[in-house]
Amino acid sequence: MDLQLAGRRILITGASSGIGLATATMLAHEGARLALCARDEERLRAAIAEIAEVADVVTATCDVTDRASVDTFVGTAVDHFGGLDGVVCNAGRSLMRTLDETTDEEIRDEFDLKIFGALNVVRAARKALADSDAAAVVIVNAILSRQPERQLAVTAAARAGLLNLSRSLAADLADDGIRVNSVLLGLIDTGQWQRRYVSSGTDVTFGAWSAEIAADRGIALGRFGTADELAFPVTTLLSPRNSYMTGAALEVGGGVHRYV
Ligand code: NDP
Repeated sequence: MDLQLAGRRILITGASSGIGLATATMLAHEGARLALCARDEERLRAAIAEIAEVADVVTATCDVTDRASVDTFVGTAVDHFGGLDGVVCNAGRSLMRTLDETTDEEIRDEFDLKIFGALNVVRAARKALADSDAAAVVIVNAILSRQPERQLAVTAAARAGLLNLSRSLAADLADDGIRVNSVLLGLIDTGQWQRRYVSSGTDVTFGAWSAEIAADRGIALGRFGTADELAFPVTTLLSPRNSYMTGAALEVGGGVHRYV
């Protein structure tokens, strides 16, 4: 099936690793033109070297919590492509800590990253998206937004706020013909989990270590997802063929949810 993404101009935050990189790769092979950012531009350039061989790509150093930095990145992308058709708000990480171990500053930083990390990008891109004939925003969020975990209380609260905000954005931006949907992740094998595996000091393989966590969390499929398995739902939500879907939250967690 033709997803009608050829020539579409898509901006992705946090594209140097994991889900952002896998999504950029899939979109490049669909013929999309890409604006990609991360804080470490050298790592970003190295990660997207193969994408740059098949697609028209703009890269930038950008911290999504810094509004001026986001405005500059979005402005550069709009100038280069002459507009934008899609945005993927993906940049981020989780704060794995109990409430007692978390400082006030860390709590504020977490809300800053989750809320402004998406809002700064959507606000900067709104005008350009409004000029597109098929504009879409995808917000990468987590099932944690509906189902908190003890070690992730602050991240879960910030994600719940982001999920709620995404619904408001879908309602507000519908006036400009812009669809806004969320993808809610379970546990996905990316840089975040590879770093946790290394710092755990375990001597078992990543597969065995992650299977134990998957069992503990009650993931029906018994394993972590892969970045490619997330790239597909994100890509299809960007497709103009998904024209009647907005304000939705798509769960991709291998059956981890414990509610109906
Ligand atoms: P990775 O660590 O593999 O990649 C994160 C990307 O985001 C990197 O490119 C990183 O580059 C960039 N990034 C981080 N902070 C910022 C920032 N402030 N401004 C700009 N770029 C930033 O993570 P994942 O692919 O796993 O995560 C993607 C998204 O999915 C994140 O929002 C994450 O919280 C969420 N998620 C992931 C889950 C999982 O199990 N993997 C579960 C639930 C949600 P750099 O460091 O150079 O800035």
